[in-house]
Amino acid sequence: MNINGLTVAEILNQVAIDIEDQKDYLCFLDGEVGDGDHGVSMTIGMRAVRRSLADLPTSYLPSDVFDSAAEAYAVEVGATIGPLYEAAFAAAGDAARDKKTLDHTSDWLNIYQAMFTAIQELGGAELGDKTILDSFHPAIESMRVSVAASSDLADALTLAGQVAMQSARDTKDMVPLKGRASRLGERAVGHQDAGATSIAIILQSIAREVAKLQLQINYHFTL
Ligand SMILES: [Mg+2]
Repeated sequence: MNINGLTVAEILNQVAIDIEDQKDYLCFLDGEVGDGDHGVSMTIGMRAVRRSLADLPTSYLPSDVFDSAAEAYAVEVGATIGPLYEAAFAAAGDAARDKKTLDHTSDWLNIYQAMFTAIQELGGAELGDKTILDSFHPAIESMRVSVAASSDLADALTLAGQVAMQSARDTKDMVPLKGRASRLGERAVGHQDAGATSIAIILQSIAREVAKLQLQINYHFTL
């Protein structure tokens, strides 16, 4: 694998497309318990990320891609989710600093962990509060197990994406304790958290892109 700056930019470009594809679904989830803007806010952020990729210099590192994504969210997204993703992408940039490639499962574990910690510190939520953390955390634990088992990167990311999406579905049973939905308390039980769902979409999108790369490499190898 050669997940260099260009490849990370291609991955984020596809993440942006996948989030925009799910805009209405994310707004629907948020609208059941909140103001229904989550899909729109994430789409605005991800469109800004795509634009920022076009402004990258000719040669750049993975960390430059994450840094410009952070800047895009900072400038473009006013909603609560804006500063959280700004912090998450900035933390991803720091975790990837000076690395030319992100080919190892441990690289992505470090990036996901850094993003999670940044979101938790800024948002102040705890696990079980029915937020983005509740799908992101199990995915990271899955990555940790994969690193310990020396799993292939594509397999590790794919499993993490699946765990995140299942965990996002499981937020239905939780009582919200943070954000606008927390005002509803028990009445929000039965509704799936929008933020937990959008990070799961992102993790699945990253996994699919890396799996495609892996397939291309295997194909060339067997020729
Ligand atoms: Mg909202």
